[in-house]
Amino acid sequence: MLLTISTTHAPATDLGYLLHKHPGRCQSFDLSFGRAHVFYPRAAEEDCSACLLLDVDPVGLVRGKGNFRGGLLDQYVNDRPFVASSFMSVAIAQVFGSALQGNCKDRPDVAAAAIPLVASIDVLPVRGGEEFLRKLFEPLGYTVSVVRHPLDEQFPEWGESAYYSVTIEKTTRLSELLAHLYVLIPVFDHQKHYFVGADEVEKLLAKGEGWLAGHPARDTIVRRYLKWKPTLASDALARLIEEDAVEPDAVDPQSEPGEGFDGVPGATPQQSSLDATGALPQAPSELEQSPQQLTLHQQRLGAVLSVLRASGARKVLDLGCGEGKLLRELLADRQFEEIAGLDVSVRSLEIAHRRLRLDNLSPAVRDKIKLIHGSLTYRDRRLEGFDAAAIVEVIEHLDPPRLTAFQRVVFECAKPKIVIVTTPNREYNVLWESLPAGSVRHADHRFEWTRAEFQDWACAVAERHGYTVKFLPIGPEDPTLGPPTQLGLFEKAGAKEASSG
Ligand code: SAH
Repeated sequence: MLLTISTTHAPATDLGYLLHKHPGRCQSFDLSFGRAHVFYPRAAEEDCSACLLLDVDPVGLVRGKGNFRGGLLDQYVNDRPFVASSFMSVAIAQVFGSALQGNCKDRPDVAAAAIPLVASIDVLPVRGGEEFLRKLFEPLGYTVSVVRHPLDEQFPEWGESAYYSVTIEKTTRLSELLAHLYVLIPVFDHQKHYFVGADEVEKLLAKGEGWLAGHPARDTIVRRYLKWKPTLASDALARLIEEDAVEPDAVDPQSEPGEGFDGVPGATPQQSSLDATGALPQAPSELEQSPQQLTLHQQRLGAVLSVLRASGARKVLDLGCGEGKLLRELLADRQFEEIAGLDVSVRSLEIAHRRLRLDNLSPAVRDKIKLIHGSLTYRDRRLEGFDAAAIVEVIEHLDPPRLTAFQRVVFECAKPKIVIVTTPNREYNVLWESLPAGSVRHADHRFEWTRAEFQDWACAVAERHGYTVKFLPIGPEDPTLGPPTQLGLFEKAGAKEASSG
């Protein structure tokens, strides 16, 4: 089996530095399942290709650690020496380990840069066919071309095989390309993996960092990567789901429009939504892109920030803060003098702590922010004395019987002057083609409300606790089904300026 990586980035021979393998030599490496060879069929200034060829020893496999089991004949006659499988991932990690980590002391700038790359795999056994290949690579931005091989060229009437030559192309970092290949090659394969130990989850999460949590086929990738070990798969998924706190976009808004929806995704700018309240639309720096480019989650954060800014709030709570995306924006704005993020998930708080670089902030900025471990269903004194609270895509994670406790914690105990609640609008779900009918957007959602259900709940809460409430759409609004996200803005009756007192 052969993996070829090519670039036209000039000088293309830099590929040798990136892979830590000299283009002028053929090098071989002993691996536990056979040998790997690296050589360059072409190494010129304008283009350069490196090959990783695996020479798997099928007999050695059977006699070795017993990781490979099939029928009697299967043990000696099988496709393993000829296809890209988990062996290829192991070889990538062992032979191109530094490149996979993104390390290159001779050409650090090239390692960190997106360069034009092409990877060809000969051959890949694909359970699920071309459609599945595209479903995995295309959302990552690759251009994919595929050649399916016949079962036997001598006997065309036998039909097609499950083996493909696959070429993917993208301008990206080499480390990113290698991480995608490392994770996805075994996902296509039918066979039990050569690896899959308890540390496999850690490896998967490490190699999947930054792309797997948000991949539309995330669940399939994880289950297939960790096949035969369903408990590991559910552990990995739980951790990815926590990590992917921006979860509703797992149903990719780019996959819109659905039938009967003739707007461009994101075509209703967040600004126009906000005009309805008279709140000043003021996009934070990172969010200053055209609305077409904003993900739904960014639009949501933009809307919440605009409302917070316009309210004049200075002390702000982010309840169910997840990994801290809103906190980061709050921290960057001098209007907000005291900020607290609360979450029930310690892991999310750890990620937030890391992403906000709390350990590196100047004391003055560091003192502004607190991360609190706690639950929104238990009264908590630490939440008192704030001007405003944002509760972004959290209530749908609570069991409905716990909603009453939640209401009391927020509106009766913490009782900030402003409360902003966002939640999915279930009516909009039919516009997501990738979402099976009747499904919720995320496995951990305990419910998703229609606009009427959310408004009924919110009006009852407001009335009971002495607030007024108004509603805003977030994201591209469908004339019949409404927006993908709904926002409720609660204001304590009689409190004019959130910052006064
Ligand atoms: N507000 C964040 C995260 C939304 S995901 C954002 O928009 O990015 C939902 C978050 O709610 C998760 O981080 C989850 O851990 C948290 N959560 C769920 N139940 C909770 C509870 N009872 N108390 C506090 N946080 C909770």
